[in-house]
Amino acid sequence: MPVHDNLNPHSEAHLNGPLFQNALTTMREAAKIINCDPNIMERLTKPRRCITVSVPVRMDDQSVKVFTGYRVQYNATLGPYKGGIRFHHNVDLPEVVGLAALMTFKNSVLGLPLGGAKGGVCVDPTKLSRNEKQGLTRRYTSEISHFVGPTKDIPAPDVGTDPQTMAWFMDTYSQEQGGYAQPGVVTGKPVEIGGSLGRNHATGLGVIYTCERAMEMKGATMKGARIVIQGFGNVGSFAAKFATERGSRVIAVSDVSGGYFNGDGLNIIEMIEYAKTNKSLEGYTKAQKISNADLLELDCDALLPCALEGQIDTHNAEKIKAKFIVEGANGPMTNAATKIIHQRGIHLVPDVIANGGGVIVSYFEWVQDIMSFFWDEADVDTKLKGIILKAYDNVYKFQAEKQTDMRSAAMAVSIQRLEKAMLLRGLYPR
Ligand code: GLU
Repeated sequence: MPVHDNLNPHSEAHLNGPLFQNALTTMREAAKIINCDPNIMERLTKPRRCITVSVPVRMDDQSVKVFTGYRVQYNATLGPYKGGIRFHHNVDLPEVVGLAALMTFKNSVLGLPLGGAKGGVCVDPTKLSRNEKQGLTRRYTSEISHFVGPTKDIPAPDVGTDPQTMAWFMDTYSQEQGGYAQPGVVTGKPVEIGGSLGRNHATGLGVIYTCERAMEMKGATMKGARIVIQGFGNVGSFAAKFATERGSRVIAVSDVSGGYFNGDGLNIIEMIEYAKTNKSLEGYTKAQKISNADLLELDCDALLPCALEGQIDTHNAEKIKAKFIVEGANGPMTNAATKIIHQRGIHLVPDVIANGGGVIVSYFEWVQDIMSFFWDEADVDTKLKGIILKAYDNVYKFQAEKQTDMRSAAMAVSIQRLEKAMLLRGLYPR
């Protein structure tokens, strides 16, 4: 495992990951469009704090294994740090830095009063028992507990974590604060302990709200549209469900077990049930099995990458046949591929807007926890729609005015808001 020595100011290994390098390229292009102050860019291109911790866990066979955990607090100009926690075997510090930067720009472009952060543990959670996962979550929470809190840094679920993980996080933090319940320390919790109605489906719903708006702008509609979805976790499965409810035909989906295709449309409700019972779509027979690469290149109206980063690059960008790409995942397309997609006239809804539904409803959850006053689900969904479509419309207008692509436009709008706030706050101590 690479060692990332963040105490050594000359070590830049944590800044060299592909995700962060891609974000830097987009940032620099966006900065040119808005003529951003170079001193602001100097600060915006570096994470503020990178925390690396050991997470020892007693396994079911009584042996002790030490996992590595991270929390990167990228920028807190606009409010407390905010961003999810990922449990995945590919998590490392460079990836978490990239994801924390994306959270910063996402929260800014969405107009939320939140900074950006991300956390993760390098572990394959599918290989852990419930007990081991609880031990891992509690010790990780304890290791970073000095740096988080309802006014400091508020984590949430991401790949490999879920409402139960957040419940353990909240409980551990609360026990360490004298046993007083502190629901505002984390979002994406079960509703019984201060979670928000509508949080679980929020990212998938936001993907469909923005897909619908993008189609509307181009004179197309969700009704009858052929949709392809990469990833069938919390984001992809809900996006599939909401697309089906709008009369779209979801013709292909994929998960870790591969791709599943049916030109007449898949039975999404049945597949969601199947994946719940069997932990994945492995063995689902009512569809044609296809590869992940084939799935991305299928002839369709909208392609929704809702899995991991780096899926669309210069190798496959020319082969994509979708008319719309809506990024449910964080960083699924490289900067170079974005240029090809833009030139080919494919309309892109970039990640920082498309998957913003999760953090928008996380923001609502945090607000509800602070007020101890809870909203009904329809209210949450309506407020989510208002915020995410406003962000989409702002960015759409900006890209039309500046004749640029949607990703650069989203980044420019985001940096502009951060720049104004940073200039107003000034540089401490002077
Ligand atoms: N992990 C989600 C994201 O990447 C949600 C973050 C949050 O709710 O804080 O946006």
